[in-house]
Amino acid sequence: MNANWDNTYASLPVEMYKKQTPTPVTSPSGLALNNSLAEELGISFDNDWFEYISGNKLPNGADPISQAYAGHQFGHWNPQLGDGRAILLGEVIGSFGRVDLQLKGAGRTPWSRSGDGRAWYGPVLREYLVSEAMHALGIPTTRALAAAATGEKILREQGPLPGAVLCRTASSHIRVGTFQFFASQNDLQSLQSLFDYTIKRHFPKSKTIEDLLEQAVQKHASLVANWMGVGFIHGVMNTDNSHIAGITIDYGPCAFMDHFIPTKVFSSIDRQGRYAYNNQPKMAAWNLAQLATALLPLASERESAIKRYTEIIHGFADVFEKANSRVHSKKIGHEPSKKSKELTQTLLKMMAQQGADYTQTFRALGEGKVDKYIGSHIDFPHWHESWSEGVNTEDLCQINPAIIPRNHLIEEMINKAINGDMELFNTLKSALDNPFKNPKNSKLSMPPEKNEMVTATFCGT
Ligand code: AMP
Ligand code: MG
Repeated sequence: MNANWDNTYASLPVEMYKKQTPTPVTSPSGLALNNSLAEELGISFDNDWFEYISGNKLPNGADPISQAYAGHQFGHWNPQLGDGRAILLGEVIGSFGRVDLQLKGAGRTPWSRSGDGRAWYGPVLREYLVSEAMHALGIPTTRALAAAATGEKILREQGPLPGAVLCRTASSHIRVGTFQFFASQNDLQSLQSLFDYTIKRHFPKSKTIEDLLEQAVQKHASLVANWMGVGFIHGVMNTDNSHIAGITIDYGPCAFMDHFIPTKVFSSIDRQGRYAYNNQPKMAAWNLAQLATALLPLASERESAIKRYTEIIHGFADVFEKANSRVHSKKIGHEPSKKSKELTQTLLKMMAQQGADYTQTFRALGEGKVDKYIGSHIDFPHWHESWSEGVNTEDLCQINPAIIPRNHLIEEMINKAINGDMELFNTLKSALDNPFKNPKNSKLSMPPEKNEMVTATFCGT
């Protein structure tokens, strides 16, 4: 494996990570390799590529570490999380700049607590497909470079399951929880180093804490609006799963919605609906408030800083509103305006009341058949007349996807993969790479039949 390595995180103060090599596995084999991403990153692999992805071989130039972070999990403070089953191999300079290469499921680390440091096929292949689908939809995300099977069984609630490792790429793995880790330990030196490093890596035009917070507000508002525009529920928006630069990270109990329910929750552990579809903007703002709190010890004058940071965080609602209006107006073929907002609201209300499929209904707008989904609603004729006035349907099929990674197909894909059949994985991958094209097999874009419905997803361990 050859790549242009340049490991900067590993040169930061030693409090920020632990040196950690992957634990070798007994008989690795390849599950999936993303050749086009490898090419973009200037990474060349030989036939033994899965030896590197499984952690059995270490690429020349890698400097493996596991990163420190803390976080609020479902609102509860956990002072020490860290990469319990992930190892950052290092950073690679590709055609679009610097990216992290991280192995997920590569063995125990000093942060593993009682965990085994491993992952099984389920979370690995789910993240592979869903993160790549997210990228194809044009939404900032970590990406999947490759997946390898370990040849070992790991024990989970369901019983022994086949182990796998995912190699993912990301613009970095700096989380809100990374800042919280140092703030909570009162380690101001590391906090300052992390702040300086983050500015340099993600926000080079920014200088102050306020600049960073404002940028983070913009990025997170835009990310959540984009998620909601494709019916995505992250499912576990804890501060440790909240990327500083607003990219989608940590695909655990996430899912794309089928029929539209604004309060939809997928995560089996989210009993309060904290991370429900329509609660995501509030949760993003809550996470950023924790970021502001974590940065406070770096401010020179505490009282006035609290005032300024609070104002920025309170501004999230407006920034989100604008981003959301941009995303949804585009989806209905109108310019953002008071009218487009009303049209969107009525459309979503009709969809919720009719139990209409989120993706198919929006797709139908560009295909001239939206009446099929909401036509029997009492408000439909009036809405349709108003929507038709001034609508531009020309590009709608390039804005509203035909295919999203539906939960029932992901589950079916995982069950098949466990039994050695990767065909559905490969079929889904190529269809999801072109989400604005109707797939050849229309079943791939259809919502589940009643007996195929998946109502909950589990934490990604
Ligand atoms: P997640 O729910 O994947 O965001 O993980 C939350 C925390 O639990 C992180 O610190 C993970 O590194 C850790 N963790 C999750 N699964 C495992 C595992 N199998 N072994 C060790 N640590 C884990
Ligand atoms: Mg996580």
